Amino acid sequence: MDHDRKHFIKAIILGDSAVGKTSLMNQYVTKRFTQQYKATIGADFLTKDLVVDGKPITLQIWDTAGQERFQSLGVAFYRGADCCILVYDITSTKSFESLSSWKDEFISQSNCRDPDNFPFVILGNKLDKEPERKVSNTKASQWCLANGNIPLYETSAKDAINVEEAFQFIAKKALANI
Ligand code: GDP
Ligand code: MG
Repeated sequence: MDHDRKHFIKAIILGDSAVGKTSLMNQYVTKRFTQQYKATIGADFLTKDLVVDGKPITLQIWDTAGQERFQSLGVAFYRGADCCILVYDITSTKSFESLSSWKDEFISQSNCRDPDNFPFVILGNKLDKEPERKVSNTKASQWCLANGNIPLYETSAKDAINVEEAFQFIAKKALANI
């Protein structure tokens, strides 16, 4: 690996509508959370500069603009992705059950060479809503284990729990894979 060049990593964030994908990205990049629901944002991606194992990285995070409701995100969205962040909402069983189809969709659309070793991470978001939890940590962990031992983070975009850690982790995993 070239140690002088700054590395670019393209991350894409997928999951059902309203699980908190845009909020997670905004919390990570801008350290802010807004309660108001906006299904669409203007930008295709946000970037953040970070350091992984002493190496400067530019992480480019691609978010959907609400098209995930129709599962038609287009090839440009998936093209060249170095890692994939799959999000569900711990208070929504349906969003958890959609993980498989999002993972399959990613694998079929991105033409990734080696799906079994591709850097995925699962985020179970809205951890601050613990009293309304529908998906247990055990159930989610079992799914992750059965689906290629994908790492799981339970997060809150609202309270900034595990957000930094999860993105740092995926950047590191992606870097090791390029
Ligand atoms: P997206 O459709 O997956 O991009 O989801 P959004 O980021 O637009 O979030 C959908 C709704 O869930 C918004 O009303 C957010 O304010 C809310 N939300 C997102 N993340 C969290 C979280 O961690 N905790 C709570 N309580 N609400 C959240
Ligand atoms: Mg969104």
